[in-house]
Amino acid sequence: MSIGRVWLVGAGPGDPELLTLRAVRALAQADVVLVDDLVDERILAHTRPGTRVIGVGKRGGCASTPQRFIEALMLREAAAGHCVVRLKGGDPFLFGRGGEELSRLRAAGVAVEVVPGVTSGMAAATAVGVSLTHRDASPGVVFVTGHEKDGASRVDWAALARCGLTLVVYMGVANAQRIARALIDGGLAPDTPCAAVQSATRAEQRLATAPLEALAQRMTDAGIASPAILVIGETARAAALAAEAEDHAARSVAVAS
Ligand code: SAH
Repeated sequence: MSIGRVWLVGAGPGDPELLTLRAVRALAQADVVLVDDLVDERILAHTRPGTRVIGVGKRGGCASTPQRFIEALMLREAAAGHCVVRLKGGDPFLFGRGGEELSRLRAAGVAVEVVPGVTSGMAAATAVGVSLTHRDASPGVVFVTGHEKDGASRVDWAALARCGLTLVVYMGVANAQRIARALIDGGLAPDTPCAAVQSATRAEQRLATAPLEALAQRMTDAGIASPAILVIGETARAAALAAEAEDHAARSVAVAS
């Protein structure tokens, strides 16, 4: 029996130009591509004609593909000798279950290659002019999920409130109010600058900025929805400046026209 191979590939945050050259090479070799729903369709232009593309998205609340099914599908395709690309949003190992897929495939004796991707937390910050670390503002950065399984958080928000590092929250839209509350209760200043970036690097990218105590309300008012990244910390002040500059530019254009 011929055994194919599987590539676990990071597709980056959205903009197809943020794909790596190695991701492009993997796509060009693929017989079958399994795609998450946050992956931009234009990325599939790098596949050969005739490559099978299978959507295996699982957005919260919508029709979802069970993880077991995805893993079984990859194993079956690899066992049939096919070159399989599992294309995942951002980086495959950051909140992407790529680690679970890697162990399952390796346990089955399938050759796996992992291709890193630009993670949305970094891309969102960069896209609004925020440097996640900064000599004057933050000596480090924490990537953390705001999604709480069964309502119980495994994240020690009080510890994060005290750590003095930039916090980058994935999947945090629904719990923004609770996260802000927990951080303030843990001792983080209520006026800590924050930015919420929706659909970073895509044409529909949107930014809302607010002090921590007003973040959730500001996001609601601005209609910020998933997928979005929350950046919390002194470094996010630069986003507020960027937003002001954008507003100012928009007003100048309006006055001029
Ligand atoms: N592996 C992915 C994260 C998957 S979890 C990565 O490395 O980026 C899904 C979450 O990622 C979303 O809820 C949202 O918080 C974030 N996300 C993904 N793409 C995004 C984008 N273009 N803009 C803002 N947030 C994004």
